[in-house]
Amino acid sequence: MRTVRTFAEARALGSGCVGLVPTMGYLHEGHISLVDAARRESDTVTVSLFVNPLQFGPTEDLGSYPRNFERDAEMVAAAGADILFAPQLAEMYPRDPLTTVTVAHVTEGMEGGIRPGHFDGVATVVTKLFAGLAPDRSYFGRKDAQQLVTVRRMSADLSFPTVIVGAPIVRESDGLALSSRNTYLDAAERIAAGSINRGIAAVADAVLAGERSGRQLERIAAAPVNEEPGIELDYATLANQDTASSLTDLDRPAFLAIAARVGRTRLLDNVHIDRTDAGWVPDVGIRLEGPSILYREA
Ligand code: AMP
Repeated sequence: MRTVRTFAEARALGSGCVGLVPTMGYLHEGHISLVDAARRESDTVTVSLFVNPLQFGPTEDLGSYPRNFERDAEMVAAAGADILFAPQLAEMYPRDPLTTVTVAHVTEGMEGGIRPGHFDGVATVVTKLFAGLAPDRSYFGRKDAQQLVTVRRMSADLSFPTVIVGAPIVRESDGLALSSRNTYLDAAERIAAGSINRGIAAVADAVLAGERSGRQLERIAAAPVNEEPGIELDYATLANQDTASSLTDLDRPAFLAIAARVGRTRLLDNVHIDRTDAGWVPDVGIRLEGPSILYREA
């Protein structure tokens, strides 16, 4: 694996079908599942590692976001990536950008309502990665459902010739969705956070049992979080997979997203609900059998 710091080097090293996995580092099995998918489907696998200041609000955790370059480089190499693109700030933003990317409507609700400017930051940095690295395929997690909607729409609107792949959520052994931010949780917070996955699992069961009312599914999702001390629900929303707008009924591909705060940590989770020949099928993702590499040092 080669580690490079510039767009030009990363582009020059890519050949054949280039698969890109954008990350902010402090990697875990969720990220590695994206690298695995890219490895199966691409000739060159490029993982980008950049903690993007543009997508953090002024009161958010940019300064304390977990970082460990050695650890990440080791994991990306072990996963079989070809290129680790780890730009410095000056490569990504040589000057204060006068050009940023705003994706309307799909960024208005849920995270967009709570984190103003967040999706502008995401859309801008992903646009730069697409423009600078010219990937044929780009891999994102279903974990960040509204981000996936935003990236798909941005890429289509701007005619990027890259296929966007959305991959299932990878969960810790107790069901908590993997996130680099899980490292912030103390033991009590970790227990409170468990209520989110109970809400997700209950929604999946309700869908399989035939529930189609958006408000009812949202109540089912919210109940375990609302009953748990030490965690505050931001929202539980049934949304359209194409537009991220709220749905009254489950009558098209959807996701039920939960956002909650445990102490100073915001956690996101969701279950995508896909239409298949067998009817509506919830995708709760994959559960690890043992402890996550998230808690492993370099
Ligand atoms: P991040 O480093 O948090 O910006 O995430 C980089 C990519 O990994 C994004 O496409 C995320 O959606 C994806 N991702 C993060 N956590 C998970 C997870 N638990 N399962 C699957 N994908 C994930």
